Amino acid sequence: MDEQRLRGKVAIVTGGASGIGRASAIRLAGQGAKVCLMDRSVQEAEKVRGAIEHAGGEATVVECDVSRPEMIREGIEQVVSRWGRLDVVFANAGVNGTMAPIETMDIRDWDETLTINLRGTFATVKYAVPHLKPQGGSIIITSSINGSRVFSGFGFCAYSTSKAGQVAFMKMAALELAQFKIRVNAICPGGIKTNIGTNTHPTPELEEIRIPVEFPEGAAPLAEGPGMPEQVADLVLFLASKESSHITGTTVYIDGAESLLQG
Ligand code: NAD
Repeated sequence: MDEQRLRGKVAIVTGGASGIGRASAIRLAGQGAKVCLMDRSVQEAEKVRGAIEHAGGEATVVECDVSRPEMIREGIEQVVSRWGRLDVVFANAGVNGTMAPIETMDIRDWDETLTINLRGTFATVKYAVPHLKPQGGSIIITSSINGSRVFSGFGFCAYSTSKAGQVAFMKMAALELAQFKIRVNAICPGGIKTNIGTNTHPTPELEEIRIPVEFPEGAAPLAEGPGMPEQVADLVLFLASKESSHITGTTVYIDGAESLLQG
């Protein structure tokens, strides 16, 4: 396998200071991409930059709150003027936000979650498109199994709506941008380093065919525990690279089949 699958490419990773974004930034840089970490947490992003550079990669940090469109636009322009191009956009920054019953969910709290998760994704793509158009590229959006398949419990109304909106937006973007050879896909992680508990009541017959319907809290059927950010990073690398050149407009679940049992 070519160990520098993204040599010469430039990538931005929003929410690159932590978790899925951090692991993905390190993975992309390890394959030769120059990576810009766009995050509101500059201190943590600098640590990721340090890790990438320590491993021989190239990275930069741009302070960016994705709820502020002008910061996204300026950040992307900064990257392009520094490295001359843009090829990969990982729109990943997100929050769970306030979780409350519908009737007590504050309108401002609803707006905040939608603004970061959904409008932030739209604005990231909007300002990246002019720079992707000349040579094509790959956009990857971090949605969630909560965005489509799963009822995870009361209180997720704003989060789940934002995550479902990202999938709808991804489909529109994939169709609209295909003419420019810009691919757009969404990933839907299950529990990654979090505790998503599930209670099920298997019949003896189910146990006989070894469907693991009882699994530890936060764990997917495939695994003893929750998924790891590095496992998501491998998917992000695949979607960012030419190995996925015929994949666009798709939602990829990465949840160890967790959503099949919950949904
Ligand atoms: P995380 O908290 O470890 O990382 C999120 C990063 O986004 C942080 O670095 C944070 O500073 C940044 N961020 C948050 N709001 C921001 C803003 N307004 N502007 C710029 N940066 C901002 O969490 P994570 O689990 O790695 O989350 C990444 C994405 O994965 C999110 O979109 C989340 O919804 C999604 N996701 C996570 C899980 C999970 O179980 N961890 C499951 C499904 C989907």
